[in-house]
Amino acid sequence: MNSVSHYCVNCGSALEPRVVEGRDLEACPSCSFILWHDPKVVTMVVVEDERGDVVVGRRSIEPGYGLWCLPGGYVNDDEHPADSATRECREEIGADVEVTGLLGVYHIRKRDAPSMVGIGYRARLRPGEVPIAGSEMLEVAAFPGSEVPELVFTSHRQAMRDWLAIWEQSRVETT
Ligand SMILES: [Zn+2]
Repeated sequence: MNSVSHYCVNCGSALEPRVVEGRDLEACPSCSFILWHDPKVVTMVVVEDERGDVVVGRRSIEPGYGLWCLPGGYVNDDEHPADSATRECREEIGADVEVTGLLGVYHIRKRDAPSMVGIGYRARLRPGEVPIAGSEMLEVAAFPGSEVPELVFTSHRQAMRDWLAIWEQSRVETT
């Protein structure tokens, strides 16, 4: 897969190629360590304000500088993904949110990095919260769901589509 030498995180031995459960991996000849290629876990959150508009931000960092995205980010090892989602909202759109549901789970393929498992949540601003841009955003704004600008990441567009499907369904049910 690559030509860089890897070493055991437990004992420091040079890893050797080994087929494990039918996969070409690297493993330690001295202890039980196997270098699994695990996906990273990320969240993305469709946050509704008190009018039902969707809060999005314009990125101040790469990738996607200047483009619109949902709040979200990497899940830490000791966090429930829903707690990670609310933490990312606090950091990126400066607001406390309440997670109200799961939108979907998305697989994000990467060519030169571990793939990602994206967990899309639906959330709403807690009463009185006013979004402000965190350090990773140039600005934040709220748009009616059908008018949200094109989002930079495929998984964010998928989560937005899944949110729109729920939103359109709820409109049908109330008319
Ligand atoms: Zn080892």
